[in-house]
Amino acid sequence: SVRVRFAPSPTGFVHIGSLRTALYNFLYAKKMQGNYVLRVEDTDRTRLVEGALEGMLRAMDWASVNHDEGVVLEDGKVAQIGEFGPYIQSERLEIYSSYINTLLDKGDAYHCFCTKERLERVREEQKQAGLDPKYDGHCRELSLEELQDKLDRGENHVIRMKLPENKNISFDDVVRGKVSIHTSDMDDQVLIKADGFPTYHFAVVVDDHLMNITHVIRGEEWLTSTPKHVLLYKMFGWEAPTFVHLPNILNSERKKLSKRQGDVAVEDFKNKGYLPEALVNYIALVGWSPEDNKEIFSMDELIEAFSLERVSKSGGVFDTAKLNWVNSHYIKETDTDRLIDIATPFIIKEKLMSKEEIENSREWLKMAMDTVKDRLDYLAQFPSEIKMFFSDKVDYVEEEAKEFMKLEHMKELAEALKAKISAKDEITPDFVSSMFKEIQKEKGIKGKNLFMGTRVIITGQNHGPDIPMVLTLLGKEKVLSRIDYMIS
Ligand code: GLU
Repeated sequence: SVRVRFAPSPTGFVHIGSLRTALYNFLYAKKMQGNYVLRVEDTDRTRLVEGALEGMLRAMDWASVNHDEGVVLEDGKVAQIGEFGPYIQSERLEIYSSYINTLLDKGDAYHCFCTKERLERVREEQKQAGLDPKYDGHCRELSLEELQDKLDRGENHVIRMKLPENKNISFDDVVRGKVSIHTSDMDDQVLIKADGFPTYHFAVVVDDHLMNITHVIRGEEWLTSTPKHVLLYKMFGWEAPTFVHLPNILNSERKKLSKRQGDVAVEDFKNKGYLPEALVNYIALVGWSPEDNKEIFSMDELIEAFSLERVSKSGGVFDTAKLNWVNSHYIKETDTDRLIDIATPFIIKEKLMSKEEIENSREWLKMAMDTVKDRLDYLAQFPSEIKMFFSDKVDYVEEEAKEFMKLEHMKELAEALKAKISAKDEITPDFVSSMFKEIQKEKGIKGKNLFMGTRVIITGQNHGPDIPMVLTLLGKEKVLSRIDYMIS
């Protein structure tokens, strides 16, 4: 049965591309009723970042891209589940050392004692000579005595793969088709580093094999590494998995999307109040397309529709406007209570209300959310949409509204509004509707003059949310003081 894996290195924030890689693995596993494994690749000890693993796991949990096996968070602590563990590479060093011995015994790998200085010198010479720099094979032919002697003396060394000479390495990639490379264009890749840790290339092959991985679905930046992996599978006599290299996610200039251009971390989107199901829905479509033109997908629908064959070869452009469109769709569909929960940190951050006030004004907030949610791309925008409900006067009068204020009927309208509202205990949407009818009948003010006129008097704007709701949300006191402010 299908077994796939997502194999993050805990080296920093969670790039949106990692979320997509994880998602495609998850979707494929679910579709095929297989298993999805999360393995941690932490063998590059210099790049580890404290807390990055937890952040990665939380991001996946937030997005509901859940794995069946591997490294998980249990009560906020890193734990592991499944029978193919350990799933953290730094806990598998003995396994790698036994497998490297197999290669050493077969003559497919060798110890290399070259110093950094020597390697640099060789590189320089090769560059001078116009060659692509690569290891010159200096330690390939050490005699057994020389080797033993150096090992006995505890000399620093790495272990390298011994590339076969003059061979073509090829494999079929589901997205790219046939990929071939000649061994003369490859290097004697380091498999075990001087610190005793395996390199990514060695560990990934050993682990994918031992964990029975059937499909390796990963970013296209690994495509050029895959021939090394294919060769390792051959050396071990193992069957290689199916490779699926996903196209890069590009920015609007068709360059690889990077942190410098703004939001690329899953956290960034979470922190702006994007809904996880919207981000997942959107990112699924960057680099994969369904058979029809459908754009809104629940997770179950994605599982149903997903196929590796429809992953595109060319990079997908990350389009924030499209993401916003998808997100606003989900905002409209989402239960108001949940929207308030997500918006709460933003309301507090903007100092509109305290936590307590939010709790006490839940019903008011829900009404406000229902009134403005059509206008939101993401929930961090909620405070600025409701800010006006907190002030007694109109903070800002739009140019066009100023022009409108000059119309002849405006004074009369303001007086009429003031009289009607003063006579009422509380403003409700129904009251506003019947008040409009009365003003129309009694004063002959109607249509745009009436509705836009009221909006301009109360908000200083000529557009905005539903006006009866605006008046209701402001409440009697604020509405009256705003009328006074505008006619004074
Ligand atoms: N550890 C690699 C990464 O950080 C995984 C690459 C792979 O999936 O083989 O992306």
